[in-house]
Amino acid sequence: MGSKQAVHVMKSIHLIKGYDLKIEGKPSADIVELPRPSSLAALPFRIRFVKPRLLVKAGDIVKIGTPIFEDKRHPEVKFLSPGGGQIKDINFGPRRVIEEIVIKLDADEQHESFDTIAEDDLPRFGRKQLIEMILHGGLWSLIRELPFRDFARPDTVPPAIVVNLDHLEPFQPQPDVYLNGKWQLFNYGLKVLQQLAKGNVIVSAGRDQINGSTRLNRLITHAYQGRYPAHDPGVLIYRIKKSAAENHCWYIAGQDVLLLAQLLKTGTYPTERTVVVAGPSATVRKHLHTRLGVPLQLIAEGRTDPGNNRFVVGGALTGYSGSKQGYLGLFETSVTVLPQGNEKGTLFDWAMPGFRKPSYTRGYLSYFNKGELKVDCNLHGGRRACIACNNCLEVCPVDIMPQLTYKTILAGEVEEFLAHGLLDCVECGLCSYVCPSKIELFQTLQKAKEDFCKELEQ
Ligand code: SF4
Ligand code: SF4
Repeated sequence: MGSKQAVHVMKSIHLIKGYDLKIEGKPSADIVELPRPSSLAALPFRIRFVKPRLLVKAGDIVKIGTPIFEDKRHPEVKFLSPGGGQIKDINFGPRRVIEEIVIKLDADEQHESFDTIAEDDLPRFGRKQLIEMILHGGLWSLIRELPFRDFARPDTVPPAIVVNLDHLEPFQPQPDVYLNGKWQLFNYGLKVLQQLAKGNVIVSAGRDQINGSTRLNRLITHAYQGRYPAHDPGVLIYRIKKSAAENHCWYIAGQDVLLLAQLLKTGTYPTERTVVVAGPSATVRKHLHTRLGVPLQLIAEGRTDPGNNRFVVGGALTGYSGSKQGYLGLFETSVTVLPQGNEKGTLFDWAMPGFRKPSYTRGYLSYFNKGELKVDCNLHGGRRACIACNNCLEVCPVDIMPQLTYKTILAGEVEEFLAHGLLDCVECGLCSYVCPSKIELFQTLQKAKEDFCKELEQ
């Protein structure tokens, strides 16, 4: 009799709520190699919660993997240089916030060396030792913890680690593109996570991604169906959790598993990134193979309309505006190019029917247009009071009543906003997007969560 084979059981999760933002300018699955940049940057202020303390000054010589800043709250969490060369500039923003550490690359970049673990030795490696190696290798911050989304607390064991392979916000790298040729490395990374989570690793992807991919079929433990943000680890945990402890699950993006794996397998700080450039004003819409911290100029060059554009880095709903002079942050893997849209609005702009304006409600004829729409950066109307339309409630994937939670936050009623489920908020941005009164629901809820987290830390 042959030995018993483990049966792979895939669970299905279906999200009814949510909303798909249809934006013109989808990328193809083609991948283009970007030229080597002459400089790179690390962006400390883009890493949420971290209070950066500089470990270098302008003029210092660094290698790939030299520590350049650390978190004042937890100095064991270090951030390493994505390039080898000289620290060219350290740019500060308002209140001396460290915005950019720019590294001018040498023609012949040097690497720091880290300890390695052979794949067969992984099961024998202690969890504590693995955590120390990831901390030392500057990649601990890639592992985040729910519900606050700060980096994971290394002194705890998570109920599970969720690896989300894809992302429903337009436009993000596809797993079959960034995993191409790297399946073995990814499997190594999953084994590392198994050690960290004591076997409780959840690998999730959309049903559409999995169908037709035997490799993904073998890996995935949870397949989701539904609209944005069905991919989000917080949504998954909200749907499947059986105890309050699971609210503190850890999570990591699929591409970041590759970075962890490369560090531990090769002993070098990883530098590769697959990034997508897309959107209505991108003339070339593709995947790009490039480096962490690459200049946005290099991504945009020859791939965008000549007009006045805005670069949204990291996702149309939850990303941030970047300028061509900026750089790609550690966590961001997409650049959406939108027309600035600052032409003077039409009189009674909000009330005018607009078949090409994206809209959640029937207020615009675009509600009935099921095609992709040319989004721009106009608000199409000013802010006003809540009209109790319930749009925000209808889309919220974790059943929060955003308008009521918002009011309790403004009133400073902590117990009330916790009772309203603030900590379940997955920070998807949909409530703000669908609000006809342009109330900053998502931004207010996100800030309240962050403030509450900081208070707990004190
Ligand atoms: S309340 Fe949070 S989870 Fe709900 S729609 Fe708004 S941002 Fe998303
Ligand atoms: S979507 Fe805006 S206007 Fe409608 S209920 Fe929510 S907060 Fe009020």
